[in-house]
Amino acid sequence: MGWAVASSAPSLSKRERAMVTWASVVPDVDGLGIIAERLTQNARHPLTWWSDYHHVLGHNLGFAIVVATLAAIFAKQKIKVTLLVLFSFHLHLLADLVGARGPDGDQWPIPYLLPFSNQVQLAWSGQWALNAWPNMVITGGLIAIMLICARQRGFSPLEMLSSKADALFVHALRTRFPLKATK
Ligand SMILES: [Zn+2]
Repeated sequence: MGWAVASSAPSLSKRERAMVTWASVVPDVDGLGIIAERLTQNARHPLTWWSDYHHVLGHNLGFAIVVATLAAIFAKQKIKVTLLVLFSFHLHLLADLVGARGPDGDQWPIPYLLPFSNQVQLAWSGQWALNAWPNMVITGGLIAIMLICARQRGFSPLEMLSSKADALFVHALRTRFPLKATK
């Protein structure tokens, strides 16, 4: 989703596209506590970093400001990239809100105004489960968009990992679905 947002702005550099893409994933760094929690689940004093902090530390306005500030510092096209980063970040929160109900039925309300206030806990009663069909449809649609963009414009999300892999991928796509010859 973040990459689709990033690709919507043709003038972004590869690095700027990566920033916008990462902004759509970065709220979930607060879920990394799952490693500590799993490792210590049978310990005498288990850590509950995942249960306590997932959807808390990274899913709020304060963290959005931190991420946007980093984008503003490192991007060349500062205003455009910062706005896209904020948009990408909030799309993540929106997606969590509408379609990320946990297997145990937990809604994971989003304390959006942290660290300024804990009064707001965003949740939506119509929220569907993380593995429900709308998410499959959205994922399928986004993959289709990615393939079309990659074929058309000559780069894919693989560009964030390896230019070589990216070039091979685009080449394979264009071999299978050739671009129309331009006269
Ligand atoms: Zn999330």
